[in-house]
Amino acid sequence: MGNKSSMQLQQEEIDEIQKETGFSHNQIVRLFSRFTSLDKNNNGFLSREDFLRIPELAINPLGDRIVHSFFLESNEETVNFKQFMSVLARFRPTKSNESKNKLNTREEKLKFAFKMYDLDSDEKISRDELLAVLHMMVGDNISEDQLNSIADRTITEADEDGDSMISFVEFKKVMERVDVEQKMSIRFLN
Ligand code: CA
Ligand code: CA
Repeated sequence: MGNKSSMQLQQEEIDEIQKETGFSHNQIVRLFSRFTSLDKNNNGFLSREDFLRIPELAINPLGDRIVHSFFLESNEETVNFKQFMSVLARFRPTKSNESKNKLNTREEKLKFAFKMYDLDSDEKISRDELLAVLHMMVGDNISEDQLNSIADRTITEADEDGDSMISFVEFKKVMERVDVEQKMSIRFLN
């Protein structure tokens, strides 16, 4: 009767994803139905446009960068459910008493954040890239002069080898003072 979706989640897939990402069985099932509802043409893959139907991403000033990051690892124009879950794992809020999953460590979250700033993917954050991301985050609430001085100060503070760029190692040192776990937790499950 009728034409039900051909997309089904197998128990083994759930187990595998659970092991890899640390999401619970119920969360995986829920995220799968979320995934399926975003997948308008029902082929098991999400495109960039599909992602922008997530209201939380559409209104996030960094939404475009976050969406971009889903595609960094797939090297394609679409993302399947497993790729989707492995990126979401980086945003999964962690409880302090929980043993950390390998995709959800501080190091992984920092790498992910670093990629969001590194717009041209050359493994360094330039002053222009920093400025561009600052723009996306604050919009027009802060004057150009102020943004410029924030960018200058950040580079000066972070740059240890004097190349006027921020490497991942330098980035990590700056972020030592920041509660990344909290900041990098985006709740897709609500
Ligand atoms: Ca760069
Ligand atoms: Ca540097």
